[in-house]
Amino acid sequence: MPSGARDAVLKFYFGPMDCGKSTLALQMNYNHGRQGRRGLVLTKHDRSGGPKVTSRIGLGLEAIEVEDSLDLVSLVTAHDRIDYLICDEACFYTVQQIEQLADLVDDHGVDVYAFGLASDFRSVMFPAAQRLFELADEVCRLQVEVLCWCGRPGQLNARVVGGSMARTGEQVVIGDTDASPVRYQVLCRRHHRSGRLGEDENQAVLTAGGPAGP
Ligand SMILES: [Zn+2]
Repeated sequence: MPSGARDAVLKFYFGPMDCGKSTLALQMNYNHGRQGRRGLVLTKHDRSGGPKVTSRIGLGLEAIEVEDSLDLVSLVTAHDRIDYLICDEACFYTVQQIEQLADLVDDHGVDVYAFGLASDFRSVMFPAAQRLFELADEVCRLQVEVLCWCGRPGQLNARVVGGSMARTGEQVVIGDTDASPVRYQVLCRRHHRSGRLGEDENQAVLTAGGPAGP
């Protein structure tokens, strides 16, 4: 490496749903673009259902959809000059694609900013997120006040099917769309473990035995 040059970096920003990951991804792309740097924005399974990065607060940007078969090194080297990548929803990429991101950093000097969930609805880490934890130069937990219904910090994503929390199933199921019976809810660790979703709390307590009557 020439003296005075800096190494490119691989950074992973993780947090539960609604913690502002996509908003930060878009902000970071904007900031780098303003400095005259050239980048690509990648995503997978964005909430919009299209090849876009969209944020809960209404920002959006066209993006490249990362299919499982997409080789990220080829994607980048096909361009004239790429300084950085914004990789939203990186938890859904393949492990091989995470390796490709590390290659881009080390062999091509591309800065990679990856954003995603750490763990799935069972609180088990996504394989791609695990590889990012292992390889990243820097890992940052995002904690934009997303709260459980009880007021504690929300840390884990629960999958809710038919009003109750699912414990088993496919690792990736798209939810929170009109067509899907699946929704996701952020809970604190305590309530993720107990499965209490906060609705009908009184009923839940009564079902569990409740206070003794007079
Ligand atoms: Zn809670």
